[in-house]
Amino acid sequence: MEVRNNYINGRWQASVSGATREVINPSNGEVIALVTDSVAEDSKQAIAAARHAFDHDGSWRRMAGPKRADMLLRIADAIAARADELAVMDTLDNGKPLREARCDVDDAVACFRYYAGLITKPQGGVYEVSDGFGPMHAYSMHEPVGVCALITPWNYPLLMATWKLAPALAAGNCVVFKPSEVTPLSAVALFEIFDAVGLPAGTANLVLGSGPAAGQELAASHDVDMITFTGSTRTGQTIAAAAVGNLKKVGLELGGKSPNIIFADADLEGAVEWAMIGVFFNQGEVCSAGSRILIEASIKDRFVARLAERANAMTIAPGMKDADMGAIVSAAQLEKVLGHIERAKQQGATLVCGGERYVEGDCANGYFVRPTIFDNCTRDMDIVREEVFGPVVAIQTFTTEAEAIAMANDTPYGLAGGVFTSDGARALRVVKEVRAGVTWINCYNPTFNEAPWGGYKMSGYGRDLGVNGLLEYQQVKQVSINLQPGLVGWYPQRG
Ligand code: NDP
Repeated sequence: MEVRNNYINGRWQASVSGATREVINPSNGEVIALVTDSVAEDSKQAIAAARHAFDHDGSWRRMAGPKRADMLLRIADAIAARADELAVMDTLDNGKPLREARCDVDDAVACFRYYAGLITKPQGGVYEVSDGFGPMHAYSMHEPVGVCALITPWNYPLLMATWKLAPALAAGNCVVFKPSEVTPLSAVALFEIFDAVGLPAGTANLVLGSGPAAGQELAASHDVDMITFTGSTRTGQTIAAAAVGNLKKVGLELGGKSPNIIFADADLEGAVEWAMIGVFFNQGEVCSAGSRILIEASIKDRFVARLAERANAMTIAPGMKDADMGAIVSAAQLEKVLGHIERAKQQGATLVCGGERYVEGDCANGYFVRPTIFDNCTRDMDIVREEVFGPVVAIQTFTTEAEAIAMANDTPYGLAGGVFTSDGARALRVVKEVRAGVTWINCYNPTFNEAPWGGYKMSGYGRDLGVNGLLEYQQVKQVSINLQPGLVGWYPQRG
């Protein structure tokens, strides 16, 4: 089997470790590819290449914005041209249904196009400043941060890569990218595209390997100016601690335990459908998953019965069969999800449906879990407090708006939240009180390249996407100009 390698300084090369790692199809447990298994030395080489490209070559950061935009548009076109192949790759690698992988590819194309457009728009400002030093004029300009390290998880392999690579490159940075060791294949394809469109050597570097072996160096290196990470809160803390050494810029998009608040006056059928998308889409492996449903007590029984009916009707199959739900990403994640389910049972939550591994038909050797609903959950239960990252939802009830808000905020996380009600003023009141970075009214989980994405509290800091997503990868420089040659006055002696 051919081994997929690192891409450093414009060349494909194996890790200095000489080791390889198997990539597993979670739908059947079979090996689908081999990738090189990097260590810290590989990351050092990639950082050195990016450092050289940024500091000495400088061709990418000096390239005029519209030319960089052209390059990003060519990348978008090349992704679109390989859309079917990339969707299949992510489906086989991650386990998700093919149609969801196709949406990810479409979003990735749109993301590169969005940042290609954005980088050509006006940036910075012009300022009226005081004349204490004589007549002066000031403006600000946006510059790339420098060498940016990007680390992503396995739940949206191509899309998470794109959310970081597109704005980082648009801004003129040089990057080192480490995808999850579990789902590295579409990242390799993306770098084939970078190679084909002719990004200058060293501008974008790929390191394939585990977090502790290859990723940690990216966080700790003093030659890296910025690290952005999407993944678990615990790893985010490790990365932030390692990044302190040179005070590099840090962006963290971390976990969540997001509340989906449903009032009795909501359109019940619509709320059920959105709640399904909220927690079962992508097998529930979504950082923003609405994994805590807070429902007004008077409609709880009707809502839960309908949700269970819909969950039980979901088809489960290997991603290529395009059912409603595919496989959990890995054997380790399957064990983790099943462990959460067992603990919820032990701690007294009422299992409404699911609650077990799914092994029927051609799912026998894969890592599938039935969509699972737990009712009568209380705030002390792990299922209410901990991120599962699987198709498991906890139901709690409330009776007043104030109680709903208090329950929604009763979590160390603050990534997302939803509210369903036909009372517009209440929707706005509740959303204003929910301490989370992404909120939805009468819908759950739609995400847009144009709008900022990121968390409050222990869900991290910094933003992906939108204008904010570009700003993350930029420094702002102030330039002040003396409009009258010479020193006109000295401030302390003025007047
Ligand atoms: P991690 O947060 O550990 O992994 C995410 C990325 O970070 C991967 O590329 C990983 O590498 C890398 N990484 C791990 N350790 C380090 C380190 N010390 N330094 C630098 N990079 C590192 O998530 P897991 O894959 O282990 O999943 C565990 C849990 O995290 C899930 O069950 C879920 O609860 C949560 N999670 C949350 C996500 C989110 O979007 N909020 C996404 C994914 C997971 P590698 O995996 O290759 O070793």
